[in-house]
Amino acid sequence: MGDVIEQCKECVALLGDYLDGSLPHERADALERHLSRCMPCITFVRTYKKTSVLAREALAAQMPQELVSSLQQFLSGAIPGFRCEGKKGECGGSAHKPDPKKS
Ligand SMILES: [Zn+2]
Repeated sequence: MGDVIEQCKECVALLGDYLDGSLPHERADALERHLSRCMPCITFVRTYKKTSVLAREALAAQMPQELVSSLQQFLSGAIPGFRCEGKKGECGGSAHKPDPKKS
């Protein structure tokens, strides 16, 4: 079985490590192969790479709230360590734990 990534979801999961440079060479290779032929992923990576956190926030502010929520939920599930940086409850997702200080 070759090291091939067929699923965009898997691709997104590896992206954080890939951009960090911490992804093993084989996986990075497989990821690049996927990225070379999957237009949605190419677009996603381009945007992801060149967008600063601030720009992402500005972009997010222009996005419909529904889309932001589902995107953040998807990312927090797909990318280890990804955290929603929106205000608490804004994304409506599982990224936010209830504040333990509140009773
Ligand atoms: Zn893809």
